[in-house]
Amino acid sequence: MLPSFFDSVLQLIVRTSTDLPPDVRAAMRTARDLEPAETRSGQALTIIAQNIDLAVDHEGAICQDTGMPTFEVKTPVGANQIWMRQQIREAIAEATRRGKLRPNSVDSITGENSGDNLGPGTPIIHFEQWDKDEIEVKLILKGGGCENTNAQYSLPVELPHLGRADRTLDGVRKAILHAVWHAQGKGCSPGAVGVCIGGDRTSGYTQAKEQLFRTLDDVNPDPRLAELEASIMATVNTLEIGAMGFGGNVTLIGCKIGVLNRLPASFFVSVAYDCWAFRRLGVALNASTGAIERWLYRDPSHPIIPMLDQAGFTRTGREVALQAPLDDNQVRSLKVGDVVLVSGRVFTGRDAVHSHLMKHEPPVDLRGSVLYHCGPVVVKEGDRWRVTAAGPTTSIREEPYQGEIIKRYGVRVVIGKGGMGAATLAALKEHGAVYLNAIGGAAQFYARTIERVDGVSLMEFGTPEAMWHLTVKDFPAIVTMDAHGNSLHKEIEQESGQHLEAMIAN
Ligand code: SF4
Repeated sequence: MLPSFFDSVLQLIVRTSTDLPPDVRAAMRTARDLEPAETRSGQALTIIAQNIDLAVDHEGAICQDTGMPTFEVKTPVGANQIWMRQQIREAIAEATRRGKLRPNSVDSITGENSGDNLGPGTPIIHFEQWDKDEIEVKLILKGGGCENTNAQYSLPVELPHLGRADRTLDGVRKAILHAVWHAQGKGCSPGAVGVCIGGDRTSGYTQAKEQLFRTLDDVNPDPRLAELEASIMATVNTLEIGAMGFGGNVTLIGCKIGVLNRLPASFFVSVAYDCWAFRRLGVALNASTGAIERWLYRDPSHPIIPMLDQAGFTRTGREVALQAPLDDNQVRSLKVGDVVLVSGRVFTGRDAVHSHLMKHEPPVDLRGSVLYHCGPVVVKEGDRWRVTAAGPTTSIREEPYQGEIIKRYGVRVVIGKGGMGAATLAALKEHGAVYLNAIGGAAQFYARTIERVDGVSLMEFGTPEAMWHLTVKDFPAIVTMDAHGNSLHKEIEQESGQHLEAMIAN
């Protein structure tokens, strides 16, 4: 049986997790060219570019959230798909063992992490037969932050800032614009959307995700959809949401639309949002050996062009150095828009830690501390731990807990991405704390700001959910919610909503 199949799939997984395809690189380079380097979005895109280069140079995960692996496999008639499925599962487990994928599959009821990315529904593998004499395997790794910003609309519907979206292509356009506006920076913009018009609720989402297998620079063969894609791209980047929702010129790097027939009573528009860490690759395999015959999405005659021509994140001299632990005065002197460089002790904490802290005392003293919403990739080397990927996770999930945790335990700085809501904003003001937005997905970049791992608590929650005690040096982030009641996220959401209204009025 196909002696090289396992190795080929393993190579595909590792490469997908560590090396962005050329069309995404090209789109991100264009995005960088369109943002002045000294702006918040410009700085974010520079860090992202540096992160993309570091990931490929060191074969490290581009983002610590290595996402839900989704395989699309085409086989000649007669191929043994049961055996292939098993081989793909084993390759996923091996890539996880090697630290190329974070253990990301948890029991939905107990929260227990399977540790090897295997479990009911993980990975997703779709097979299809075709009449060619080769095997095609395509893979997309789509993380939770962007997955959570997916949206499905049942037309007609009344949409904020856009009015009624009818069962027409203009109604579809409004639904897509609403999805992008609603996502703001939470899905790690600039992202791309795959869209399905029609289908039922299930097939609509599947088809929307399948659109993400198209290259960003292709042209839709259906002229009506090609026009709609072009119109979305032309208008969405005038919303000024920008990279990470910091405000700026580039909000989306691609819009790909497919269509399915629907029932007369239904009219769904399904939107699958993918972040800038748009990890999608494929291979064509020899049907007799399983060896890789060629890579899809890349032209082998073109070597990888680095994203950055020179050193990455350049300091302007206006950055504020923060040394943890912090006191009330230091925190209250910060204001929205400040770029800070954090040094000292940082504790990680995401969903399981926040839920735990609502019922139990913290395992460490959190007074004056920095709490980082992060589920890192960590490997054990001898008796020491090393963090290999450590970007921020989506903070809004902790909104029900964050204010109370700040109040009870005296946390002064929360770092995450995408911003938080009204309850956290009020707690920041009342108790003297700030929210810092780090650059989502910049897992390699941030791993290099970690000088050492000093310890770990709550390891029973699994590696990504445990509380890691880290010493960091010059960790860059932007104050997006300050201790005076100001929120950049709220501001950009309101302003971009006004842009939508103006667009519709014209
Ligand atoms: S770049 Fe952002 S949205 Fe994408 S997988 Fe990473 S953390 Fe999630």
